[in-house]
Amino acid sequence: MTGFPKPDHDHRACAADVLKRADRLCRSRGARLTDSRAKVLDVLARGHQPVGAYEIVDALAEGGQRPAPVTVYRALDFLVSQGLAHRIESRNAFVACMTGTQEHGTAAFLICRRCGVVAEVAADELSQPVARVCERHRFEAESSVIEIEGLCGNCRDA
Ligand SMILES: [Zn+2]
Ligand SMILES: [Zn+2]
Ligand SMILES: [Zn+2]
Repeated sequence: MTGFPKPDHDHRACAADVLKRADRLCRSRGARLTDSRAKVLDVLARGHQPVGAYEIVDALAEGGQRPAPVTVYRALDFLVSQGLAHRIESRNAFVACMTGTQEHGTAAFLICRRCGVVAEVAADELSQPVARVCERHRFEAESSVIEIEGLCGNCRDA
C-alpha cells in the first residue's frame, strides 16, 4: 500500500502484511528475521506513525522483559538495511515499510503534521529527476530520502 490509509481502514491487515512480507523477504535473501527483529518490526507495524527507539523499548517492556536499547538499535539497523523499515530523519524515528516493494532507490515520505501519519510514495517517479539534478552538479548520490511535511488528505477533509 502506498499513500495515506483511510482512518477507518483495517489496520490489522496492514500489520499482518508487513510481517508476512518481512518473513518472505528474509527467507528469499537468506537473512534471519530473529525473534527480537520481528518484535521490533511488530511494534513499528502497529501504526502508520513513526516510532522512536525508546518508545519501542517501552512498548516491548509492556509485553514482558525490558530489552536493552542496544538490542533494539541493532534490530532497527537490520530492518532498515533490508528495506523493511525506514528512518524518518526529521522525527528521529522509524516506520515499517508499507509499500511492499523492494526498490528503494529514492524514497519519499509525506509526513502529516496533524495526525503524524507517514506515507511512503512511489519512488520511481522521483528517482529520475533526482538523478538528473545530481548529474548536472557532478554529484555522486549515495542515498536520497525526501521528507515532505504537511497536511494529509484525511486531515484536510476533517
Ligand atoms: Zn494500516
Ligand atoms: Zn519502503
Ligand atoms: Zn493527517
